[in-house]
Amino acid sequence: MTTAPATPSSPHVMNTYGRLPIALSHGQGCRVWDVNGREYLDALGGIAVNTLGHNHAQLVAALHDQLGKLIHTSNYYHVPLQEELARLLVERSGMSNVFFCSTGLEANEAALKLARKFGHDKGIERPQIVVYEKAFHGRSIATLSATGNPKVQAGFGPLLEGFIRVPINSISALEEATANNPDVVAVFLEAIQGEGGVNPMHADYLRSVRALCDARDWLLMIDEVQCGMGRTGKWFAHQWAGIQPDVMPLAKGLGSGVPVGAVVAGPKAATIFGPGNHGSTFGGNPLAMRAGVETIRIMEQENLLDNATRIGAQLKTALHQALAPELARGAVKDIRGQGLMLGIELDRPCAALVQQCADQGLLISVTADSVVRLLPPLILSAAQPSRLWPLCAR
Ligand SMILES: *Cc1c(COP(=O)(O)O)cnc(C)c1O
Repeated sequence: MTTAPATPSSPHVMNTYGRLPIALSHGQGCRVWDVNGREYLDALGGIAVNTLGHNHAQLVAALHDQLGKLIHTSNYYHVPLQEELARLLVERSGMSNVFFCSTGLEANEAALKLARKFGHDKGIERPQIVVYEKAFHGRSIATLSATGNPKVQAGFGPLLEGFIRVPINSISALEEATANNPDVVAVFLEAIQGEGGVNPMHADYLRSVRALCDARDWLLMIDEVQCGMGRTGKWFAHQWAGIQPDVMPLAKGLGSGVPVGAVVAGPKAATIFGPGNHGSTFGGNPLAMRAGVETIRIMEQENLLDNATRIGAQLKTALHQALAPELARGAVKDIRGQGLMLGIELDRPCAALVQQCADQGLLISVTADSVVRLLPPLILSAAQPSRLWPLCAR
């Protein structure tokens, strides 16, 4: 969780965020300006949301066009744009069908319901789902219960039962925690944990989990809300391991700023829900769907997967070079992540860096207390990363 110095908030806005004393007024590409006219390089991208940066001409034109046609209709009717976005997601994931909602936690909530019903359909009365230490899945009661951060859970008990928690990247820990337990129905993980500190699951581990899920008839559910939609240089981060999940929640980057969530299901999960099992009033509305369709179209026209791979690799190499002394003496413990989802772990809490970088015209976040996290728009150009060096000097 990002911890920024708290500033007094409005008397009318509920005080749920530690906000920086900055108010942004407009943006262009990877740059944003505050209400005082100060310019910043946006290396946070609205927390991995602004895939196409700010004020992308083609996206803005498409949204204008859509506003004049239909914003919302309800799911009482067919929504052709849902069918179009579903097809685009199915083609890129190799999976089979899609349920639309509006946020990440909603997509995860749908995944948890799918897993439970998968169990009930097999006669398992009290289904259990494997989740991970340091995981983040959202802040509803169910997704908070699946989250592995005691700080965000504190004060909201009783949490939901039915979760088994294991450390990441240990297949033996997963096997031990589930041994002789016939009630397990699913494994739920982030391919790269985002809020937990940019912690990648190893490709070998993901392949072993896939094999275990197949052997035990469990659903493999991969939360790609943050690491998906091209951020790591593939459409979905798990694709680096050459596997396919049964259930994949998406949100954040999918609508390039317009709220869009989705849960994509493979053959094993595609028919678990029937009419009446799940729904969302705003889910899949024409404006949101147009944003998703246009985001994917533009990502392909502009080769943004390749761009994320290329610029991300340059950035990582340059960070390694610039931070070599700090790495050598242990002040920087690790530089990790893939594509344009990078984390720099320091040997100390570093929340104050967020303001210090902003003072130098750079927007970043710090997560898990000591990890500087970079999630810039996927349109970041080769010239822009050099503006990230002030960060390295600290
Ligand atoms: C941000 C995030 C969520 C929650 O998404 P919201 O849209 O804030 O509900 C869930 N899972 C992961 C991996 C996330 O990064």
